[in-house]
Amino acid sequence: MDCIFCKIMKGEIPSYKIYEDEHVFAMLDIAADVEGHTLVLPKKHVLDMNEADEQTFAQVMNATKRISAHYISLGYDGINVLTNCKASAGQEVMHWHVHIFPRRNGDEAKIKVLHPDKQFNLEELTKKLRID
Ligand code: 5GP
Ligand code: ZN
Repeated sequence: MDCIFCKIMKGEIPSYKIYEDEHVFAMLDIAADVEGHTLVLPKKHVLDMNEADEQTFAQVMNATKRISAHYISLGYDGINVLTNCKASAGQEVMHWHVHIFPRRNGDEAKIKVLHPDKQFNLEELTKKLRID
């Protein structure tokens, strides 16, 4: 399969490994954006979070929590966790991964989606979006 993350986990492409267990692999992202930017991925090739079975989901998220707590214990001040599902959301690598962004007080990294001018009818949206 022509998947860059599967190739990394097979050792065909080098990476900076942070954590590995039977089901999960975590490495530094090559993007030069936030210090310690980490990707947590399942060893099983699944397209995105919504394609993951419950077990795979739990394995990745438990590892994400463990790595996040570890980073805080090393002295980072905070953590952002993000996963992109599908191209419209910015997903570029089609093998599910969770981004961990370690944060420092005052680092000015912009992780949040900011659309200050948008107005939504929350009443109508609730009717459309809620799960009954
Ligand atoms: P996405 O946009 O799919 O949520 O995130 C893909 C991430 O994978 C990007 O942050 C990008 O920098 C990272 N990435 C792409 N190719 C490689 C690679 O070969 N090695 C590593 N470690 N990260 C990669
Ligand atoms: Zn893959």
